[in-house]
Amino acid sequence: MSKYADASPERLLISACLIGSCCKYNGAANTLPKETLSELKQHYRLVPVCPEVAGGLSVPRVPAERKGERIITAAGSNVTEAYSKGAKTALRLAKKFGCCAALLKHRSPSCGNSMIYDGSFSSTVIKGRGVAAEILMKEGIPVYNENELHEILPEEKEITLDEILAVCDHTLLRVDCTSEEIKALCDQGIKFHCASVCIPPCHVAGAKRYVGDKLKICTVIGFPNGYMTSAAKAFEAADAVKNGADEVDMVINLSMVKDGCWQDVANDIKAVREASKGALLKVIIECCLLTEEEKIRLCEIVSESGAEFIKTSTGFSKGGATFADVKLMREHCAPQVQVKAAGGISSLDDAREFMRLGATRLGTSRIVKIAINQETEKTEY
Ligand code: SF4
Repeated sequence: MSKYADASPERLLISACLIGSCCKYNGAANTLPKETLSELKQHYRLVPVCPEVAGGLSVPRVPAERKGERIITAAGSNVTEAYSKGAKTALRLAKKFGCCAALLKHRSPSCGNSMIYDGSFSSTVIKGRGVAAEILMKEGIPVYNENELHEILPEEKEITLDEILAVCDHTLLRVDCTSEEIKALCDQGIKFHCASVCIPPCHVAGAKRYVGDKLKICTVIGFPNGYMTSAAKAFEAADAVKNGADEVDMVINLSMVKDGCWQDVANDIKAVREASKGALLKVIIECCLLTEEEKIRLCEIVSESGAEFIKTSTGFSKGGATFADVKLMREHCAPQVQVKAAGGISSLDDAREFMRLGATRLGTSRIVKIAINQETEKTEY
């Protein structure tokens, strides 16, 4: 249950743009999914506020960012006073209606509760708070953003083993794996209704012939180091799709990342996107080799690349998926980009936590092994 449910008069202050009000600087909204809104309404009476409009600003308006204590527009005007007035109105409303908490849009110079743009208008995000979030928190009103809904909504029921298996890319990428092992992997993938089997490119054609349309075939591109040329990756991807791959997991060029050649990183992903049309594309960013800033930048690049997924790890470097990385990816990727956690997922509890944090695919072979063990235990007496 929500940690506020017992003591709360069930009123929640909420950014107006999250419930569909077109009050963003560009006249758009940030509407939450219908199901989320309906769940929020089941548990709270919503008190909407747009601090910027409440502060007297128009829609549309010139975008602004927080720089220290001041709010400056992209045109250079100082709009601190209007933001401060709006923040005070938000606080007044929260107090008037006895709101137990606030759900505010993240990154906004008014509403952001933990991350905001840095004032350079270069899409750079830093730790910090918007002025309305800040004043609410100072007054003891907890503020959450739309990626922290689990904090204010009742806990979901436990995710079942079948539900976990359904999002598993059952994986075998060992360099010396045999065709017999790949067949066995496919049999298990079909039996346990996995999302796919993830196998080396040289086994794709044979596996596709073996499973037909009973199971999705996933393979890897530029794996595991990612430093081959974009042309070589594009060829690999096209060849994989021609051989029957339904999904391709590509490794980005980490050398380009470390050189700060972001456009080249984006072009490398786009080359594979172009070559793998018709297949689902997952982009492996190898989190264990990246700084936080690099991860955030890559979330944004992947969001604009046309890829369906961002993926944490190859499982062949010095670290696998972490909860913190999945959370970061969910926070910084566009909503249409799904997250795949891979590398080192060894228990059902791990799998559940990754899913709870927003991962919709898991790259692992261990969950199927757990399912097989559970079956064996049931038949032994
Ligand atoms: Fe949404 Fe808050 Fe910005 Fe208004 S000030 S548009 S409510 S994020």
